[in-house]
Amino acid sequence: MAKMKALVCRECGKEYPTKAIHVCEMCFGPLEVKYNYNEIKKTISRKKIEEGPHSMWRYIDLLPIEGAATVGPYAGFTPMVRARNLGAYLGLDELYIKNDTVNHPTLSFKDRVVAVALTRARELGFETVACASTGNLANSVAAHAAAAGMQCYVFIPGDLEAAKVLGNLIYRPNVVEVEGNYDDVNRLCSEIAGEHGWAFVNINIRPYYAEGSKTLAFETVEQLGWRTPDQVVVPMASGSLLTKIWKGLNEMQALGLVDSVRTRINGAQAEGCSPIASAYKEGRDFFRPVKPKTIAKSLAIGNPADGYYALKATAESKGAMDMVSDDEVVDGIKLLAQTEGIFAETAGGVTVGVLRKLIKQGIIKKNDVTVAYITGNGLKTQEAVIDAVGRPVRIQPSLVSFERTFKMGKNGGLDA
Ligand SMILES: *Cc1c(COP(=O)(O)O)cnc(C)c1O
Repeated sequence: MAKMKALVCRECGKEYPTKAIHVCEMCFGPLEVKYNYNEIKKTISRKKIEEGPHSMWRYIDLLPIEGAATVGPYAGFTPMVRARNLGAYLGLDELYIKNDTVNHPTLSFKDRVVAVALTRARELGFETVACASTGNLANSVAAHAAAAGMQCYVFIPGDLEAAKVLGNLIYRPNVVEVEGNYDDVNRLCSEIAGEHGWAFVNINIRPYYAEGSKTLAFETVEQLGWRTPDQVVVPMASGSLLTKIWKGLNEMQALGLVDSVRTRINGAQAEGCSPIASAYKEGRDFFRPVKPKTIAKSLAIGNPADGYYALKATAESKGAMDMVSDDEVVDGIKLLAQTEGIFAETAGGVTVGVLRKLIKQGIIKKNDVTVAYITGNGLKTQEAVIDAVGRPVRIQPSLVSFERTFKMGKNGGLDA
């Protein structure tokens, strides 16, 4: 029997074949992948996983593809950094940074979801792939499509960071800049997906795409020595990543890879686009769409597709949510860089900022084993920090100039 059983509606439970479809015909609910866990249980084990490839594909038994990984074979298995300096600064005994700023090949967590989506798109016979993106997704789809020799269209909002625009063009896909925000781009792409026979990774391929995010949960547990953390902090755009970390942890328990899951799933957004975190703070189980205005552009989704499910996952896990201002985002980026030597993009600043807040509020406690997901690279969002880091010290090319500048003492120590 195959490991994938069906696509199933998250609302009414109606089942569908595992094709390129994403909404229920009966109730318009979103579809997700349902597995034959009894079948998977027969073969999966910690040992088998540990002997697998040094990529996210060591968890292939829990990913929605039928054959081998034909696209994105090197994605995932990024470092789990024991953040002693940042932990000490924030007052945590055991803090880890899951560092997807160095994911392969495009330096964000999106390489995980795209590797799954394009492998599945190929299995389903597609030759053209596309996406609606806040930036990182487009970079990843464009790079993977180039390597896989697939036709590619990426749709981006008109106000993206320069490095994220360049990070598309270099692979030579069709880059379509839409005059509007992400929510406008997404609406347009849903219409285009209906007209053309393309694999839109986050529209008609979304049920498969989203499953790739579970690998962050799997790696977390394995890299902690097969322990589940007490607390995780997850940045939210559509909210999909957060829901899949919860799903991944629970799958590991269902398959006997861990004994219990007591992890609290905490969600992080920027104040300028916090439909999900605002709903949490106001005690609502539904979100109100907003018009985004924040430097955290990778998280700027005003009408988040998985917002409702993210609220549900956080509630089930007894987690929390919070949001931070753009200034706090910049502070978070600088703090992470200056304590751990990791340069994150704005989404990472959101995660660190919210981590700080949750510790201050006593929601995350000193002895909680905590993992912060740092999902994108700072070299892609230089605009956000360029005015907050100062300039180099400038000198003449002479020893005198250097020593005058630093007022070097006799013993070689700095007097300045
Ligand atoms: C896409 C993205 C996320 C989370 O996206 P979801 O839509 O919530 O799954 C987080 N961080 C970065 C850097 C991203 O690009």
